[in-house]
Amino acid sequence: MMTINPQFQKLQASYLFANIGKKVRAYQEEHPQADIIRLGIGDVTRPLPAVSIAAMQKAVAEMGAAETFRGYPTDYGQIFLEEAIQADYALRGVNVSVDEIFLSDGAKSDTGNFGDVFGAGNVIAVCDPIYPVYVDTNVMAGRAGYLLEDGHWSDLLYLDCGESAGFLPRLPSRHADIVYLCSPNNPTGTAMNKSQLQAWVDWANENGAILLFDGAYEAFITEDLPRSIYEIEGAKTCAVEFRSFSKTAGFTGVRCAYTVVPKELVRGGVSVNAVWNRRQATKFNGVSYITQRGAEATFTQEGRAQVRETITYYLRNANVIKTGLQSIGLSVWGGVNSPYIWVKVPDGADSWGFFDMLLNQAQVVGTPGCGFGPAGEGYFRLTGFGTAERTQTAVERMQTLDL
Ligand SMILES: *Cc1c(COP(=O)(O)O)cnc(C)c1O
Repeated sequence: MMTINPQFQKLQASYLFANIGKKVRAYQEEHPQADIIRLGIGDVTRPLPAVSIAAMQKAVAEMGAAETFRGYPTDYGQIFLEEAIQADYALRGVNVSVDEIFLSDGAKSDTGNFGDVFGAGNVIAVCDPIYPVYVDTNVMAGRAGYLLEDGHWSDLLYLDCGESAGFLPRLPSRHADIVYLCSPNNPTGTAMNKSQLQAWVDWANENGAILLFDGAYEAFITEDLPRSIYEIEGAKTCAVEFRSFSKTAGFTGVRCAYTVVPKELVRGGVSVNAVWNRRQATKFNGVSYITQRGAEATFTQEGRAQVRETITYYLRNANVIKTGLQSIGLSVWGGVNSPYIWVKVPDGADSWGFFDMLLNQAQVVGTPGCGFGPAGEGYFRLTGFGTAERTQTAVERMQTLDL
């Protein structure tokens, strides 16, 4: 008899965004006039940089003429975007070769797909709270056992990134083979500094482990912190880095990202770069030419200025939320090197209780922290991705909360 991968049945416990939608719809039905402000979803709202639009329009025209038409990216040997990415790394003093850079349609796909590289018995360590993709894709792959009563999966190693840990992962107390790190972090907004990253790199090299470093929010770093794991000595022999144009340049709907797999990264005599190359060559046919031109344009001087302007806009929103909530006595993290604001819910409430309170009293929608793992219970995520006007209105409403 044919069977369906039973792992998917185990996953159905995840109702976060469905539950948010249900609660918001119910509220709207009861209060049809309500003006609801959504500060929950992790999607950008500002338009693409003008340089990207111009570059993509030009690329569309090229596709319409036989002399400049492009087909499968690999068949044309085009590496202009990889070269632009390489040059961008060089600005931070990082040397990567173009065949260490793998373009893709998203960091979500890459962080999810990268598990294909690893054998079945590896011990996977994840932070708690965490971007749910890392856990769910390991469940799908059969590496995560079963869901325990405390909300953790039986075979995963969880690194507590709660408030008492400063929202930062400590080195594992027991053996782990693969560790997912995300800095600046979604959902807590915390960014790791050089010595914290160095400790992880040293640990991974000493233990033969691999770090999967998600840098989707590196462009939001404004303080003097590393923007790439490869700014850390020794990272080339233990770390894979995921980056994306999604949050950096508004490409969430266009889709373009890249993963760096250093050639020095070898385990059991096998090159991880070669395995990932084989995997991508088999299951992926490259990023559209038009999209690549749009992404390339973000690295021009004009492009960088336009990207910076949008990031500054989101960071300003995040700061408005942060200072606004601090002024009513709430404890708030993130919002500095990150578009995310991580709020401790007032005494006596849990994440969903605070969700209901915000929706009912302020008509503001956020994301309950418990949706990112058990250690997120008692916390709440808001984002700076709204418009400045709506963010300001949301903060004014939240300041009238009856806490
Ligand atoms: C948004 C996000 C990504 C980027 O996903 P894309 O597929 O590139 O749009 C990756 N990692 C984290 C933690 C994110 O929040």
